Amino acid sequence: MDSPEMTFTLAYLVFAVCFVFTPNEFHSAGLTVQNLLSSWLGSEDAAFVSYHLRRTAATLLCHSLLPLGAPGARVIVTDTWVMKVTTYRVHVAQQQDVHLTVTESRQHELSPDSNLPVQLLTICVASASPAVRPFDIRLNSTEYGELCEKLRAPIRSAANVVIHQSLGDLFLETFASLVEVNPAYSVPSSQELEACIGCMQTRASVKLVKTCQEPAVGECQQCYCRPMWCLTCMGKWFASRQDPQRPDTWLASRVPCPTCRARFCILDVCTVR
Ligand SMILES: [Zn+2]
Ligand SMILES: [Zn+2]
Ligand SMILES: [Zn+2]
Repeated sequence: MDSPEMTFTLAYLVFAVCFVFTPNEFHSAGLTVQNLLSSWLGSEDAAFVSYHLRRTAATLLCHSLLPLGAPGARVIVTDTWVMKVTTYRVHVAQQQDVHLTVTESRQHELSPDSNLPVQLLTICVASASPAVRPFDIRLNSTEYGELCEKLRAPIRSAANVVIHQSLGDLFLETFASLVEVNPAYSVPSSQELEACIGCMQTRASVKLVKTCQEPAVGECQQCYCRPMWCLTCMGKWFASRQDPQRPDTWLASRVPCPTCRARFCILDVCTVR
């Protein structure tokens, strides 16, 4: 590392990468194209179109001088327009002409701020106007409801896409996958499984058995209820007892049995065999 050329090349590369991909530190230091040229660009709020015409041209010019390309996009939906603002382009479609279709959903295992999975939706925005080329927007499934409210026409969904709009919906999948690896509970052959008393749609499929610790240890208690709930209803019950502001605490928490109030944790939910 003693050659000055090497040091300069490294420093230049770091700067170029940070300038194009703009980490938070560069944003707060004002080292972005928007900020450096702010007086020439004008105000986004006052003149959206001319601002973005100038911004995309300037960004393209600045970045073309550096050896990288760059991702990043923002979606803006107003009463009349659906817009996607990327580093180099602005896609605009008029609301009255567009058809939106959810084409893909991806589950990302864990989000950094909560311990719950996030579902990202890809929505294709196609316009009846031939001048507007279709474009894709991506958003978190929890923002989907807000988007639907803002749009005049319903969003179509490809047949195989299931959208989890709430934290509770997202939690149910995690809950089911965790219960799956717990030991199963075998019902005595004489015992008939009844319909789940929560939904009356399916048979009861889970039994609470204290398996997380030894019987007399810890906060969990043994529940003596017969299997009365299906997995989904038990998951919904578990989610309903949680603090929506603290999703990071959900998985480790204990809730009372919906029938006898014995406290249990996720490790104690056993699938009935
Ligand atoms: Zn049920
Ligand atoms: Zn119970
Ligand atoms: Zn437990």
